[in-house]
Amino acid sequence: MRASKKSRSAEKTRNSSGETHISGAEGLFNSSDIQKIAKNFIERALHHERGTPDTIVITIESIQESQRKISSLPLSTLRCHFPSESKHFIQKILRFLGISARAIQAADRIIQHGNMRGASILHEKTARRLEHNKMRGVRVSRFGIHKTAGKKLGMQLSRLGIHTDTVTEALILASKVASCSGVVAELCVSDDPHYTTGYIASEKLGYLRIPKIKRKGSRAGGRVFFVKDGTDASSLAHYLERVPVLITHIAPCRKTVTIDEIQDRHNK
Ligand code: AMP
Repeated sequence: MRASKKSRSAEKTRNSSGETHISGAEGLFNSSDIQKIAKNFIERALHHERGTPDTIVITIESIQESQRKISSLPLSTLRCHFPSESKHFIQKILRFLGISARAIQAADRIIQHGNMRGASILHEKTARRLEHNKMRGVRVSRFGIHKTAGKKLGMQLSRLGIHTDTVTEALILASKVASCSGVVAELCVSDDPHYTTGYIASEKLGYLRIPKIKRKGSRAGGRVFFVKDGTDASSLAHYLERVPVLITHIAPCRKTVTIDEIQDRHNK
């Protein structure tokens, strides 16, 4: 699903297509669930905090290829109280994962600018942008979760008090992204002005939720995938956009962790 709004004035136009991105959603579902899911996506588009769209596009495709089966990333939540603290932690964690200061700054600029439908792909050292369409970015699609795994995940998230569509979908998406060999880490900040929990996801540290990643009311937001030298951006985009991936195994979901606990655990 893709929902957008035509910008009324040149000043409000955030990209050269004259459109403001309102909301998007995708997934892999059983055909028997299509009507329910489509209704849910339309509701989401119509009641998004970013405004009321004037266009909603829903595409439904039948997928015949077999799905690659993967595990979800282990989830935890970083103890973090203010946006200034989260900024400091994000830099620390991304540096710990080997990402250059230059690439971290570039990611921050992309997220502050916002209004992309998809994600940017950044070289982890040089900060070069590798996605072909820099206005749209790469839109991860064709990711889903097996019914049994979905129930297990739901139970774990409920115990932590975070069983929402937002957390579930973001974890599934991030697990697909982290399953690409070239991807070192993903940084995500929601563009919903009222949703202030973002995340850093990586094969090494798992899916780390970061509360207070931005101040309430901010319209900044976006996703950045940091990739290793030599990653072929076209093959990566093909995998992310076209290859069906299904979560069939659930890694543990833990409660709050401190920045020191993360570093201690991984320095051993
Ligand atoms: P959201 O978490 O839905 O608030 O999205 C935050 C930002 O992530 C959006 O503004 C997009 O730039 C990006 N994004 C959302 N969905 C996807 C997706 N499926 N694939 C890649 N990037 C996405």
